[in-house]
Amino acid sequence: MSKRREATGQLALPLPPTPEPEQWGVVVDGVLLNSLGNAAGNWWAVHAARFHRRGKLRCLHVLPIGAVEEIGPLSRADAEFAAEHIVESGVHPRAVKARRWTEQPHMPGCRKAKPCRLCAPAA
Ligand SMILES: [Zn+2]
Repeated sequence: MSKRREATGQLALPLPPTPEPEQWGVVVDGVLLNSLGNAAGNWWAVHAARFHRRGKLRCLHVLPIGAVEEIGPLSRADAEFAAEHIVESGVHPRAVKARRWTEQPHMPGCRKAKPCRLCAPAA
């Protein structure tokens, strides 16, 4: 009995307010990148593999000529830094976009944050 009361007391401790940290991602459009046909495509392939190994890359869309991928989740500052770095490395600015991270991966043009049918992965 006394044990149970202790446990209840512990649960009643007020939790410190922990605001959810904002999570961001960087979408890299490898389809556009490859269609431009410059060296940046190779540069990105190497870096994409690096992010992938760290578990920081997810695929949004795959086509025979390339894939649209998203780096993350990162902090907003890290995402903006990464996007800048990628553009500075020669990737066309139109192929790179920092955006808020969403639980469900959305296509680059989608502005929804909640799961949507259009972007739902094929079953
Ligand atoms: Zn969507």
